Amino acid sequence: MTAEIIDGKAFAAEVRGKVAEQVAGLKAAHGVTPGLAVVLVGEDPASQVYVRSKGKMTVEVGMASFEHRLDADTSEADLLALIARLNADPEVHGILVQLPLPGHLNEDLVINAIDPAKDVDGFHISNVGLLGTGQKSMVPCTPLGCLMMLRAHHGSLSGLDAVVIGRSNIVGKPMAQLLLGDSCTVTIAHSRTKDLPEVVRRADIVVAAVGRPEMVPGDWIKPGATVIDVGINRIPAPEKGAGKTRLVGDVAFDSAAAVAGAITPVPGGVGPMTIACLLANTLTACCRANGWPEPEGLTA
Ligand code: NAD
Repeated sequence: MTAEIIDGKAFAAEVRGKVAEQVAGLKAAHGVTPGLAVVLVGEDPASQVYVRSKGKMTVEVGMASFEHRLDADTSEADLLALIARLNADPEVHGILVQLPLPGHLNEDLVINAIDPAKDVDGFHISNVGLLGTGQKSMVPCTPLGCLMMLRAHHGSLSGLDAVVIGRSNIVGKPMAQLLLGDSCTVTIAHSRTKDLPEVVRRADIVVAAVGRPEMVPGDWIKPGATVIDVGINRIPAPEKGAGKTRLVGDVAFDSAAAVAGAITPVPGGVGPMTIACLLANTLTACCRANGWPEPEGLTA
């Protein structure tokens, strides 16, 4: 079997198109522009790249982008004061504090200071609780993107066996909650799981979110299974020249694609969906804040 490639780049462009269309509709009907505030503390190079592309795509879909770049030694009090201002600002519908924060800042405290209704990353403890109890919440962007691709591929996920490898708060746990919400039978595997290959072989859906290059080989995959590879790992690529690198996922793509029914590539799979879902969440937050209907096809 050769797997269908789930093209996250194309899917993300489609999601951004839907967001842009609905943003234009809100502007025309109500004169309201959804706004996303992104807060970056310090000069972490990867974070700077993420923040730049988030800002660019926010503007591309017609939303307002507010960027707040703070010095690495910003005090917790100053950061909390900024969050309080953004919470109170009616032009800001979504707030994202780029992680990781410098070591002197308490990430939990900072994230939990964001108004849960504006918490477009879905990391606030209230949103975690709402998701866990199956109530309307802001859903973390990466798992939301994975869910959208799975629903588009399968239609109904009801009754399917799903294995999520990784139990982080930002990917593994919310992914498992979403799959449970769609009536999958869910197993969360992690670094202490006994006989991981056998656990993975039972799965109709495998979501790998570990951060270990190509650790899931094709012979762990049940024939016909759908594989969502969240991992982003940079490895040496001497074939491209001295000192060059390339990105790979947590799944050994070639051997898995020979067995799976469908698979996301890295790059071009889950990654592009994450920012698209951030924009979708900002639109959702704007609609909820104003009591308008939820945007169609863009929520969990
Ligand atoms: P994390 O380090 O917080 O969690 C990794 C998880 O993997 C842990 O729960 C751990 O128990 C588990 N694990 C570690 N070794 C294992 C092993 N040998 N067998 C089974 N499980 C093992 O990582 P994270 O933040 O969840 O990210 C995971 C990966 O996803 C990383 O590569 C990260 O870069 C990527 N990521 C991608 C996106 C995206 O937009 N595509 C977003 C977030 C994270």
